[in-house]
Amino acid sequence: VLALGKNFRAHAAEFGEEVPEEPLFFNKLPETMVPHGATVTVPTWYEGRFDHEAELAVVIGKEGKDIAPERAMEHVCGYTVANDLTARSLQGADRQKGFPWLRGKNMDGTLPLGPCFVPRQWLDLSDLRVTATVNGETRQDATTADLVVDVPHALAYLSRHLTLRPGDIVLMGTPEGVGPLHDGDEVVCAVTGIGELRTRIARPAA
Ligand code: MN
Repeated sequence: VLALGKNFRAHAAEFGEEVPEEPLFFNKLPETMVPHGATVTVPTWYEGRFDHEAELAVVIGKEGKDIAPERAMEHVCGYTVANDLTARSLQGADRQKGFPWLRGKNMDGTLPLGPCFVPRQWLDLSDLRVTATVNGETRQDATTADLVVDVPHALAYLSRHLTLRPGDIVLMGTPEGVGPLHDGDEVVCAVTGIGELRTRIARPAA
């Protein structure tokens, strides 16, 4: 799973940062993936901020390297919804030191995905709403029209560096409005035309 960082201008501004000159990618390991309806339990030793990030997830269907933007969509088989759950305090500490974001993005269970998969031919990506609600209250609400790097250019850029393979998933970045989650919170991430992804957060006391 490859994920774009700071790909909505207003979200980058939340952290007092500019959109990067080149696309910024990090990765999420297989142990992060959990299905719709999962309860994600935050380790008791971690007391920092734990944030939701609603995102459009692009599923690769065809292998490719050095893909031209105008051919990139041929490598997409379809789309689903993701919640790029983030241990923000760890990410912030590592960001300050210039370290990679590995630990802040890769606690077990921090990538709820699904539940619906929509084939590429069925969805126009130009203006889809990406939203997150927490306990029914809207926290994130933006549109794919505001993406800094669109899907074809993201795939073209990535494939200059590495081979994309069927089953790879590319997360397109989250809108402004990320915020902390507490014990018992229910997060619903949604993308127009794809569906709703529901996750419960457990933060048991040490
Ligand atoms: Mn993200």
